[in-house]
This record gives sequence, C-alpha cells and structure tokens, in this order.
Amino acid sequence: MGTKSREYLFGATICVLAERARDARKDADGLACQAWNARMLGFQGPAQPSPALGDALNAGYRYLEVKCLGCATHQTVALDVVRRPKTTPIHELERYMRCRHCSELQGRPFKRNHLVALRTTKVSAANPPSVCWPGER
Ligand SMILES: [Zn+2]
Repeated sequence: MGTKSREYLFGATICVLAERARDARKDADGLACQAWNARMLGFQGPAQPSPALGDALNAGYRYLEVKCLGCATHQTVALDVVRRPKTTPIHELERYMRCRHCSELQGRPFKRNHLVALRTTKVSAANPPSVCWPGER
C-alpha cells in the first residue's frame, strides 16, 4: 500500500499559483507603467517615482521616448539593451541620455533631455511621438 506522491498532491497547485503570480506581476507592472505614462504625458512630470527598468520590460514597454531640449527631436531608446540593473528606476536613465546630433554640433556631450513616456514601439513617421507640446511644430 503506497501513498500518493507529493508531486501528485501539490504539483498542479504549485503550477497554477505560480502562473497566477506571474500574471499578477505583469498586470501590476503594466498598470504602473500606464500610470507613469499618464503623469508624464498629462503633467510632463514629475518623473519620480518611476517604474523599474525590469518592470517596464516585463509589461512589454520596450522603448523610452526621450525629447532633446536642444533640437526638440523625439527619439526612442531601446530599454532591453540598456546596461543597467533591472531594478534601476526609469527616471535615473535621464542623466545618461545624450543627443548625438547636438553633441556633434557642440563638440561635447549634450545631455539636456526630457523623458516623455514609455512606449511599446519605436518612434517613426508611421508612429509619431505621443505628444506635441505648445510651441512645438
Ligand atoms: Zn538634440
């Protein structure tokens, strides 16, 4: 006479609960990114507190839209190639961003940028920047 194995007794429960936890984390990360986006697009800040890099990636936000304050162009930065710990808040990336065009013009790293929003896709002609501010073309 044998007993049922622990795998048989608890295996399915563990799988289901782990899946629910994964889904809940993804939902929470997505909502945190949406809330941050709404604040940045609606009020243009403050950028702090912001979701962590790993949270944004987990929620499917693979790009960060950044506006250069020198030439007013919007660019996207791919978050999955940023070499920072996944716990780094998004707003801490602001000080590392530099505009290539303005840096070449000035002959020094031009780092005056403004974070715009997290995006799931790149900025392109078919997919224009999510916001135009007053005084901007
Ligand atoms: Zn620039």
